[in-house]
Amino acid sequence: MPTYPWRMAPPDLLTRRQLRALGLRPGGQPVAAQILWRSRLATGERAAYLYRLALAKPVRPMTPGRLRALAAANAARRTCPLCDTDAGYVLPAHLGTCLPCADVLPLAA
Ligand SMILES: [Zn+2]
Repeated sequence: MPTYPWRMAPPDLLTRRQLRALGLRPGGQPVAAQILWRSRLATGERAAYLYRLALAKPVRPMTPGRLRALAAANAARRTCPLCDTDAGYVLPAHLGTCLPCADVLPLAA
C-alpha cells in the first residue's frame, strides 16, 4: 500500500473525514494509501487511511433538516454547471462538475 508522510499525500487521496467534509463517503472502495506519522502522545506510529476522491459516493442518508442546512450554505456549490442539477453534495473543486458528469465526460470526448 502506498504510504505518505503527514501532509504529503496527493490531493486526490482523502481521509474519511475529508471526504465527509465534501458530503462524500468512501462507498465501499478499498483503502488506496495511508499516512503514517509519529504521535507525541501515544507511542509508536499512527496511521490514517486514504480513499480515492473519484471513487467516493455521496452520503446517502440525507434528512430534510440536513438538506435545508446544507442548502442555505452550499446551494451554489452543489449545482453542477453541466447537467444543471443539484448534485446533493458540494462539487469537488478539481472536477467542477457532479461525479456522474465527471465520469461521463472522458467517454463522450
Ligand atoms: Zn452534472
